[in-house]
Amino acid sequence: RFITVEGTEGVGKSTNLNFIQQWLEGQGHRVLVTREPGGTPLAEELRSLLLAPRDETVDPMAELLMVFAARAQHLEQVIKPALAAGTWVLCDRFTDSTYAYQGGGRGFDQSVIAQLETLVQGELRPDLTVILDIDVEKGLARASQRSVPDRFEGEAVAFFERVRAVYHELAARAPNRYAVVDAGQPLEQVQQAIKQVLTNL
Ligand code: C5P
Repeated sequence: RFITVEGTEGVGKSTNLNFIQQWLEGQGHRVLVTREPGGTPLAEELRSLLLAPRDETVDPMAELLMVFAARAQHLEQVIKPALAAGTWVLCDRFTDSTYAYQGGGRGFDQSVIAQLETLVQGELRPDLTVILDIDVEKGLARASQRSVPDRFEGEAVAFFERVRAVYHELAARAPNRYAVVDAGQPLEQVQQAIKQVLTNL
């Protein structure tokens, strides 16, 4: 099984990924936790290149192709072999991030992203995608407390509002694959909701 976790900045992805991992392992599953962009040495290098703030304007198409280049490497080297071995794969972000950030954020048509998705992934899609959903400004306030800002954290609130709107759109289109969890609630309730989703799966 292939599970992905998505969300805008400061939504609590790391904490909840940890929770999901522990829960799955508690059910006796072997779990591989990985992330995008990244997950292999080459893909992690591409991640650093993507996230580094820089003076040069990054062309949106270059950004889009780098994200998919990292994904191709990650899929072939890590995700597919793990799934083939019966390991559950739990991935921090996947192609829904591309729909959300490069689509909603940067303005690419979903059809362009869908073409690359098919090219790189064939038919492979996550079995379940947990979308952690939070008010954008609340999330940004949380995120600003911890990390060194990456190239995306300098974006305007409107950028992240578009990102969030795409997540909602994807979830509405395929409610069986996506679970939207209100990440603004106290952590215990967030995890209760996630547990329910996993139990249903
Ligand atoms: O650690 P986290 O997943 O939050 O960081 C990844 C960063 O990369 C985020 O700032 C997110 O905005 C950005 N990103 C992106 N496009 C993707 C995946 C991630 O802009 N497809």
